[in-house]
Amino acid sequence: MKIIKKTKYITSFTRNNEPISWINLGETIIVETNDCYCGQIQNENILRSEINGSLVNASTGPIYIKDTFPGDVICVEIRNIQLDNQGLMLSYPGLGPLGDLIYEQDTKIIPIKNGKACFNKEIKFSINPMIGVIGLAPEIVEISCEAPGDHGGNLDTKDIKEGSKVYLPVFVEGGYLALGDLHATMGDGELCGMGVEIGGRVEIKVSKTRTKNIKMPIVETEKEFLIIASDVDFERASKKGIVYATQILQENLNLTFKDAYRILSALCDLRVSQIVNPLLTVRIAIPKKLMPNLFI
Ligand code: CA
Ligand code: CA
Repeated sequence: MKIIKKTKYITSFTRNNEPISWINLGETIIVETNDCYCGQIQNENILRSEINGSLVNASTGPIYIKDTFPGDVICVEIRNIQLDNQGLMLSYPGLGPLGDLIYEQDTKIIPIKNGKACFNKEIKFSINPMIGVIGLAPEIVEISCEAPGDHGGNLDTKDIKEGSKVYLPVFVEGGYLALGDLHATMGDGELCGMGVEIGGRVEIKVSKTRTKNIKMPIVETEKEFLIIASDVDFERASKKGIVYATQILQENLNLTFKDAYRILSALCDLRVSQIVNPLLTVRIAIPKKLMPNLFI
């Protein structure tokens, strides 16, 4: 199996990045990833202000996916996530919604042992590994790995984990897949501004669906399809997701607009993925049993 090393990474999604690997449709690969500070912080003596900030969310890639063209939909099946043996959570003035209450920066290292994050002597909690950044190159613009969008990117959605499938719209030939910013665990909202940040190795299978032209990322879990919508604030992100989810329900269930809107309200959930990135991300959860064949 091909192993793609973490020594080559991107800090923004653009078609101008040079691919570091070429894979076939249907291929399973392992992608090594750096933590969100690109491995610059290995102990608690190193502070946020001392590192190279341009490497935040460095993501391994881009990976050129052969026989992939604009309008296609790439399916990234997440088969396995192995984490490094320590994660970190920083704190510094301005970080997250309570950043005005932080006056001094510090670094907290969180060892990972036997499937538990060891927060301190008393508090240990189970890990729930997830991928913070996963995406393809956008058509024209260049988008920092710190931002989420219709291309994917810094989606910080906790369902992007082992067993899930991430469907991404293709904008450029070859797709230009990259991923990074693993979290050992993170709650909805990413409320202090970061998860338990960590590097690792992700095994993925990359394929293409016959379904074409999705507008934004969609994640498939055991029981749901999650429409992942990002925009400048909660109101606009949720409206964007609601509009697209209603359209998907209408088209796939052969409903009028108003009936699709009613089904949305009766059976679907609106959840917050993250509130701390340059755009805010929400997801609309549609039960899979409503339309098991959304992707063919
Ligand atoms: Ca992130
Ligand atoms: Ca992160």
